[in-house]
Amino acid sequence: MTMRKISANKITDTVRQLFLDISVYLPKDVSEKIKIASKSEKSITAKNILKQILENAKISSNEKIPICQDTGTAVVFLEIGQNVNITGGNLTDAINEGVRQAYVKGYLRKSIVSDPLERKNTNDNTPAAIHTEIVPGNKLKISVISKGGGAENMSQIRMFPPSTSKEEIKGFVIDTVKKAGANACPPLVIGIGIGGNFDTVTTLAKKTLLRNLNSHNKNKIYKNLENELLTEINKTGIGPMALGGKTTALAVLIKTAPTHITSLPVAVNIQCHANRRKFRII
Ligand code: SF4
Repeated sequence: MTMRKISANKITDTVRQLFLDISVYLPKDVSEKIKIASKSEKSITAKNILKQILENAKISSNEKIPICQDTGTAVVFLEIGQNVNITGGNLTDAINEGVRQAYVKGYLRKSIVSDPLERKNTNDNTPAAIHTEIVPGNKLKISVISKGGGAENMSQIRMFPPSTSKEEIKGFVIDTVKKAGANACPPLVIGIGIGGNFDTVTTLAKKTLLRNLNSHNKNKIYKNLENELLTEINKTGIGPMALGGKTTALAVLIKTAPTHITSLPVAVNIQCHANRRKFRII
């Protein structure tokens, strides 16, 4: 396969447009899930909250204003074809420039501080959290998520021993959702990473948030685990905005990876109903 050139400018333009889009348009699979949930809720409060979330999304898309005031950390997943040659600039700079343009020119909230203790705002929402993967081919897939702090802060990781049962893992996930409560703005999307290492399991959990909410893990064991967890999470009664109801989560999405014989890492990345993500292949 011959090398294909992709300019840094094109990457910047794509990243900018993706973040501008996701800040105002709630993905269709998310709004459809919320619509279905609002019809099946018995609690009037839960029903009303879900309707308000849909109404909020409608206003955002019509008036091109952010779905939520927290427009999040800019998370970027790249799948870079090994036959891609990036020209005219540095890849990391090109992505950060796209984020900067989206957040500054799009008047999105700038939520990144340059130092975790000194807390000085970078004023353009950079740097982005960038994850790269080299894949076969000559295309570049850019997937973005804007990850609000309220939900992200309620996420957890645990390094289990390999003898841990499926029930213990389920207990950890449900406990994480219970602790999240109202802080994560339910109904939630639960991204779960199982396997890998201390560093990679959290990326697995986050990357699975890119999946369509109607999709399932291809492995039957994990597909069943996704279904069981969703049912049990929705039986907790936490409900929309934690004011009671049966819609605590819209989906549970699991991604796995090979792991060490002595390890069973599990990461739960909590995402709020503002599940803003989109991808483009260039
Ligand atoms: S958790 Fe989500 S919906 Fe709630 S404030 Fe943060 S970004 Fe907004």
